[in-house]
Amino acid sequence: MEQNDERVMLSALQHYAFCPRQCALIHLEQIWTENAQTTKGNQNHERAHTGGSEERGGVKTLRGLQLLSRQYGLWGVADVVELHGEKPIPVEYKSGKAKPRLADEIQLCAQAMCLEEMFNTSIPVGFIYHAASHKRREVEFTPALRSEVLKARDGVLSLLQTRVLPEPAADERCQFCSLIDECEPFAPRDFPRGFDPFSTLMED
Ligand code: SF4
Repeated sequence: MEQNDERVMLSALQHYAFCPRQCALIHLEQIWTENAQTTKGNQNHERAHTGGSEERGGVKTLRGLQLLSRQYGLWGVADVVELHGEKPIPVEYKSGKAKPRLADEIQLCAQAMCLEEMFNTSIPVGFIYHAASHKRREVEFTPALRSEVLKARDGVLSLLQTRVLPEPAADERCQFCSLIDECEPFAPRDFPRGFDPFSTLMED
């Protein structure tokens, strides 16, 4: 179960911010489908989540660090946290291009909010590393982005409580989504998901 004493998992925030229905399919209905991008992403995550640490050029790199914010009710694991002196900087690994709706930025900012509580510090920026381009980009943790984190958290909590599957987005997000076959975002909504209206025509 993704919920733990009203605490929301960081990955659920990312799923919800991207598409509430995707979040529900994964965290309520336990559906997960691999495509080329998620497989590659998982391999990158596994490498980042192997744990341990290394130090280079005065920067210590922590992999697979467990994160928790009691204040905000968030928990999860960080791919990579760099320690620049005493200052932790989260770095999230992504296999594909930037997703719509700031989903990756919200996940990264939530990691920073956990780290701020754990290290009793403030963290103004973090980085998203794109494996395809081998480049990383800076993400500023603005008040607006922090407020999006809390909105996504409340959305996930409400989803877990009501257990109602949201309507499909059926927009540009679906082309990035590995659950498109299970979701059937463009199917007629008058029939229950998975119901084949034509099968009844074959019965006689
Ligand atoms: S296919 Fe589209 S509507 Fe369905 S879960 Fe994915 S993004 Fe959401």
